[in-house]
Amino acid sequence: MDKLYFITGSQDLYGEETLVKVAEDSRSMAEYLDKALGDVAEVIWKPTVLNSDQIIKVCTQASADQECVGVITWMHTFSPAKMWIKGLQILNKPMLHLHTQANERLPYDKIDMDFMNLNQSAHGDREFGFICTRLGIAREVVAGYYEHPEVVSRIRRFAEVAGAIAFSRNLKVAMFGNNMREVAVTDGDRVESQIRYGWEVNYHPIGDLVKLFDEITDEQIDARIGEYRDLYDFASDDISSVKEQAKYEIALDRFVTEGGFGAYTDTFQDLYGLKQLPGLATQRMQGKGIGFGAEGDYKTAALNAVLNRMGTKRDGATGFMEDYTYDLTPGEELVLGAHMLEVSPVFAATKPKIEVHPLGIGNREDPARLVFDGIQGDGVVICMVDLGDRFRLVCAKVKLVKQPHPMPQLPVARLMWKLVPDFSTGTEAWLNAGGGHHTVLSTAIDAEHIRLFAKLTGTELYMIDENTVSGR
Ligand code: MN
Repeated sequence: MDKLYFITGSQDLYGEETLVKVAEDSRSMAEYLDKALGDVAEVIWKPTVLNSDQIIKVCTQASADQECVGVITWMHTFSPAKMWIKGLQILNKPMLHLHTQANERLPYDKIDMDFMNLNQSAHGDREFGFICTRLGIAREVVAGYYEHPEVVSRIRRFAEVAGAIAFSRNLKVAMFGNNMREVAVTDGDRVESQIRYGWEVNYHPIGDLVKLFDEITDEQIDARIGEYRDLYDFASDDISSVKEQAKYEIALDRFVTEGGFGAYTDTFQDLYGLKQLPGLATQRMQGKGIGFGAEGDYKTAALNAVLNRMGTKRDGATGFMEDYTYDLTPGEELVLGAHMLEVSPVFAATKPKIEVHPLGIGNREDPARLVFDGIQGDGVVICMVDLGDRFRLVCAKVKLVKQPHPMPQLPVARLMWKLVPDFSTGTEAWLNAGGGHHTVLSTAIDAEHIRLFAKLTGTELYMIDENTVSGR
């Protein structure tokens, strides 16, 4: 399980009695948060740090501990912040500065100077906050009594984002083929992506996948078809097309497992050795948490995997999406989101049907795919663009709605949503921000997750929500 170190700052001026109380309070606070976070993360109490050497030691330990995804810092008393400089320069994990107290209320009848000296985070956390700002450390600051549900929920969100950042730093993305010819928004600086987010994005010829086909047996394919029959309705008699996709899925499973990949891209322009564009196969891979970006879109593939990881302990769904077409009925404007094939079945509101239809692009056989109507509820769509000297995240809050009418002729899975605050403001803001057509859609995480991810990774964020005003 992901671990968060709970580090409490103090100094050695207060005497033994005070420090015993500091240790006691911080330990029970860490234990409370550990329980409250459940299976999201384990909160590990660390002994109070009193001087520069101890701070260097615990920051070095947090930085080197592979299971530690972040640290929570809290100054129970005053902790002179020059002592923190060297340790904070070493710390390479996301930080949450928890501005709280051991006591919720003031004991008005008993309060004396001893109480004041022990419970002075109002004072000590300001000293600590100053040095973090002076050092330019990106961190989350959460203020409030640590048992309050809103405070716990923000710490939980930090744990989810920090866990996703740790995952991101180890993420490998396979690009089968390159970026689709001439397309701008899906391209990007892979070196900078690795420096900032840790993504190792490398090209693999599709032949690396094709050569795995030889070792796949009919029994393996039949077993996979059996799985499909349990989960989906077959709306096609073209079993050979479905078997072809099952073969791709088995090969992809092996490829990502053996190579340690968390995401991949493909492109219809490079399908040598494949009879079909992977459709059902890629939908299934996404359903297993593997990130995907179409047409060589490595940024969306990586972001998809990272946001999957972020929402993994939450209800809701996350996957690759594309803004396709609109219903422009006045006041009822809707976006229809879909892709040529590759919408994740995690978005299915109805039992997916396996259908086989021609694909007007890529010049291959008719691919099998899952077709379904999408879920409803609040969500976010997120796009990452490369602006040349920086990455930008564009995030829009949306309301997923039931499609107003059936679309029996549409051969792909589809979702529909309303933009916030309204169609023209939302889309104009998106276009002004340079947001692309490929996105990650999620109902598991919210705009606050994206804000925090942007903050902790130093990424520019353009948020489109109910407060967005028309840019005209
Ligand atoms: Mn596309």
